[in-house]
Amino acid sequence: MDVISRVADLRTSLATLRQQGKSVGLVPTMGCLHEGHLTLMRQARAGNDVVVASIFVNPLQFGPNEDYGVYPRNIQQDSALAAAAGVDILFAPQVEDMYPGGYEKMLTFVDVRNVSERLCGASRPGHFRGVATVVSKLFNIVQPDDAYFGQKDAQQVIVLKRMVQDLNMNLRIVTVPTVREKDGLALSSRNCFLNPAEREAALVINRSLRLAEEKLRSGERDTARLIAAMRELIGDEPLASIDYVSISDPHSLTELAVADGPVLIAMAVRIGKTRLIDNMMWAG
Ligand code: AMP
Repeated sequence: MDVISRVADLRTSLATLRQQGKSVGLVPTMGCLHEGHLTLMRQARAGNDVVVASIFVNPLQFGPNEDYGVYPRNIQQDSALAAAAGVDILFAPQVEDMYPGGYEKMLTFVDVRNVSERLCGASRPGHFRGVATVVSKLFNIVQPDDAYFGQKDAQQVIVLKRMVQDLNMNLRIVTVPTVREKDGLALSSRNCFLNPAEREAALVINRSLRLAEEKLRSGERDTARLIAAMRELIGDEPLASIDYVSISDPHSLTELAVADGPVLIAMAVRIGKTRLIDNMMWAG
């Protein structure tokens, strides 16, 4: 596996491979790799001649009071894991490589309106603008045939699919199901912030999704009642505080009063100081 940090070097390597007619799969990540990321990489490996994974903690997508400074970074371990998952090129730029003029001085952004403003976008203003902008930059640099994203970040997938459609980007977004611990907790780089009591408390997130699923199965369609039941369950966990619990249309993310078709049940919950997200698709 080649580890590349400069944009120009990555472009040169890829130009040669592409001349040989090779297809390219891209897996963008912020590193501190876990089995969720590795599943994306293995799927990219199965579907493409060349796999590029990027590791970049993107300052543009963090708010001023968020965890950019303390976000876990472990490039040594990440390199070994990515190589074992079949990655050919690990692109690990410094902030200066991605934002040569300084990210604070950027004048150009990709703003996917409406779907970016809901759910996580409401509590993290500017987050999806940062995501869409950096992912556009990665797409421009790598020009992948396929790009792989996790269903764990359901809104991110919706925002990026819309960006690709609206801007005629010539690639396919592949969505990979959420990878979970045996006890149901969705894998996340931020899980390492949880102390043992918080790790236990975090199970309430998946439990509340399962509760909603059970109720949907037994015929409940009133989303206000579904959300109230989820909120009550989470409310019983003293270490948890709800950012949002939402039942929305899985394409437009508009909140629904009645779950009479496919819905996305999504939530952000703070466990102690750590903000975790999770979701479930109900096929209707
Ligand atoms: P991150 O490093 O958190 O930005 O995530 C990089 C990519 O991995 C994103 O497309 C995420 O949706 C995906 N991802 C993160 N956690 C999981 C998970 N538990 N299961 C599947 N994909 C995941």
